[in-house]
This record gives sequence, C-alpha cells and structure tokens, in this order.
Amino acid sequence: MPVNKEAYYLIKKELEAKEVTLVAVSKTRSADDILELYNLGQRDFGENYVQELVDKAARLPKDIHWHFIGHLQTNKVKLIAPFVQLIQGVDSLKLLKEISKQAKLSGRVLNCLLQVHIAQEETKFGLDEEEFTVLIKQYAGGQLPGVQINGLMGMASFTEDMEKVRKEFQQLKMLFDRLGTHDSRLTIHDSRLPTPDSRLRTLSMGMSSDYKIAIEEGSNMVRIGSLLFGERVKE
Ligand SMILES: *Cc1c(COP(=O)(O)O)cnc(C)c1O
Repeated sequence: MPVNKEAYYLIKKELEAKEVTLVAVSKTRSADDILELYNLGQRDFGENYVQELVDKAARLPKDIHWHFIGHLQTNKVKLIAPFVQLIQGVDSLKLLKEISKQAKLSGRVLNCLLQVHIAQEETKFGLDEEEFTVLIKQYAGGQLPGVQINGLMGMASFTEDMEKVRKEFQQLKMLFDRLGTHDSRLTIHDSRLPTPDSRLRTLSMGMSSDYKIAIEEGSNMVRIGSLLFGERVKE
C-alpha cells in the first residue's frame, strides 16, 4: 500500500495552522513506507510493538523521533529506553517506576504521557482518576527521577457516535487543564510540577477517525495511521 502523499500534505497543513503535532502511526508498515514519509519531512513516528519499534529504529535514520504509543510491558522498557522520544500511554505506577529505573541506567530523561481512561469501553488501557492522582503525587514528590511527565494521552471509544467521542475528549481536556493549573482536587501543593505553560503541555488525543473533533476539543498532538498509510491489514 503506497503512502498517501496528498493526504499527508493536507493534514500537515491543517495541523500546522493549529500548532498541532502530527505523529504518523507506522505500526505494521514497512521501513520503506516510513522512509517515504520521512523524505517528505515527517520526523515523528508512533509504534505499538516493542520489537517492531526496535527493529525499525535500528534500520531507519537516527533523527526520527520515535513515540511508543501502545501498551508497554514493564519488562520491555529497557529495550526502548536508550532511544525513545516519548512514551505515550503510561498506565500504571509500576510501569512508571520501571521507566525511572531505566532512565537512570540509560543516562537519559524519559518523556512520558499518562494515559487516562476516558472511553466508556472496558477494553481500553488507561489510569482511572484515583490511580492518576496517586501517580501524580509520587511524581510531584520527586520519587520518580529521570521521568519527565509531559502531559496526557487518551483514546476515545471505538464508536460511530461522535458526540460520545467528543464528550470523552472534553473529559480529558478538563483533567489536563486541572493538572496544568495545579487544581487542589489533585492535591498537589508542594509540587515540583511545572507551571501550566512550561513542560506539562502535551495533550495527545485523536486518530484518523476522530482527530478533527479532538483538535476542536483542545488536542495538540494527534496520532494518525490509516489516513496516511491506508487501512491496516493486521493489528
Ligand atoms: C493504531 C493507533 C493509532 C492510529 O490509528 P489510525 O486509526 O490508523 O489513525 C493511534 N493511536 C494508537 C494508540 C494506536 O494504537
């Protein structure tokens, strides 16, 4: 399946006007397909599977920013720690502790987004509000050295009901804003959390089917695969 260059240029233009970052989701796509987009200027790519990401990163240009966007198993953090740009989808404290450990071992600061459960579906990964609060407190308390939380990530329900999708995005945006303003309900008082306009700035929401709605609701990073590369055969 060839890369849809026309779609790429259109989406790029649309996103640039709104200062939204495009992560091209390249899971299951060949290295050649990725190179084709790379040659058009794309640098941010997202992958879901650790081994696939490691193999591709070894073969492809070193200035690619690799985003890990899937469910990350604790025992695999070490494989991506040396090079990953942003770990989207951190969904447990256990995982974040391992990221902290691997950050130290690889001598890097690892950028993370916390994945919050916003979909009403049971199947999606993500923190509920209570887990989220616990995790933020640990972070704010300085207990996770080497971890840099850059913002939040979420996935809406897989549904045709776009009003439902919009509501889920609104929910995540509200949490994002509360976090950015140190809302007391999150009980971060003596925190080292950055001010709203500094480092806690990324809100990753929106995919091929719903990115326009996500942007309307405040997303500043979208993860798009099928619109650029065509429908995936396997997941
Ligand atoms: C696959 C995937 C995407 C991209 O999905 P498309 O519908 O192909 O745009 C975005 N985010 C995550 C977490 C994914 O797993």
